[in-house]
Amino acid sequence: MTALITLEGVNKYYGDYHALRDIDLTIDEGEFFSLLGPSGCGKTTLLRTIAGFESVSSGLVAIGGKDMAGVPANLRPTNMVFQSYAIFPHLSVAENVAFGLRKRSDLNKQAKQVLVDDALDMVGLDGYGGRAAHALSGGQRQRVALARALILKPKVLLLDEPLSALDKKMREQMQVELMRLQRHVGITFILVTHDQEEALVMSDRIAVMFEGRIGQLADAETLYRRPRNRQVAEFIGKMNFLEADVTAMGDAISLQVQGLGGLQITPEQSPEVRETGAAVVGIRPETLGILFEGETTDRKLAEGVVDEVVYYGDMTYYDVRITGVEKPLNIAMKNIIGQPVLDVGAPAQVIWDERSLVLLK
Ligand code: ATP
Repeated sequence: MTALITLEGVNKYYGDYHALRDIDLTIDEGEFFSLLGPSGCGKTTLLRTIAGFESVSSGLVAIGGKDMAGVPANLRPTNMVFQSYAIFPHLSVAENVAFGLRKRSDLNKQAKQVLVDDALDMVGLDGYGGRAAHALSGGQRQRVALARALILKPKVLLLDEPLSALDKKMREQMQVELMRLQRHVGITFILVTHDQEEALVMSDRIAVMFEGRIGQLADAETLYRRPRNRQVAEFIGKMNFLEADVTAMGDAISLQVQGLGGLQITPEQSPEVRETGAAVVGIRPETLGILFEGETTDRKLAEGVVDEVVYYGDMTYYDVRITGVEKPLNIAMKNIIGQPVLDVGAPAQVIWDERSLVLLK
């Protein structure tokens, strides 16, 4: 992969407020990259500094090897799709898309029409050109905004929460379509989102941001399975936390875990913790299970009592209080034919496996 965008030591102040703090980042050509984080963490500011809508207070932003200092947004090889779509309701779909070509005096009407048709086809709006833009659904409007941005063939498409105004079903559909579209056009997409599921589904890599800094930059699976610290683990999905005492560090890491006793894990399961002493162990709810009557397992067991049951149809979420731990463990179980749903107060044997644990600071 070739680096397309490089940020080095980027800081941004709004008055006294330090919105971006020492951001170092490389984004590759053709990558689907997401900036993920809670409200106010600086992800939109970072996107806008790449777009050229914000200047940096210090540091370097380079695109295609060129320093972008002083280069205005309209002269950068980027294009932005906004959350609000910003389409013109009084124009037709085709006119909205052609708006992206307004400065291309080198193209005649016919050539523009070909590009508009191609762009509409690309976003699944083939044949919609003559429709009035105000008569479109939210998902269709978003497609028009995408077509208008892509018609200029930018090197980078910047997407600021593009799906947040859509309902859940349409959002899920558009996630898959955006992925397909990105593969088809092959350009770099940078997505800003506060929705961790959206980022996990679509991205090659994700930068998780907190308070103006990048907390972790990794692919979806690494972020989910090996979060670097508790803050990232809490932001991405659900995680149970148990107090631990690390007694030996080396090729195998030995620890005592509250409620689970003594066990060993591998160094890969400890992305940041390098020292013995107090730490925290993280366990995802779906890596735990409950042993039902008549079943056997070669995994480890902990005795517990059901504290809460939430039935979702395909899944049941249990809170189970295990001996020696104050906070119940959240367990996500797929509902299988023939398996009962336990009641609150029922005894439960919790199945766990040290391979699914991650050691955190
Ligand atoms: P959200 O998801 O809520 O949009 P975000 O992570 O995108 O959040 P930013 O919009 O980048 O956050 O804002 C980061 C911080 O910088 C916020 O505290 C915000 O109030 C502040 N900020 C953003 N733009 C300005 C501005 N023009 N002037 C002053 N402060 C600003």
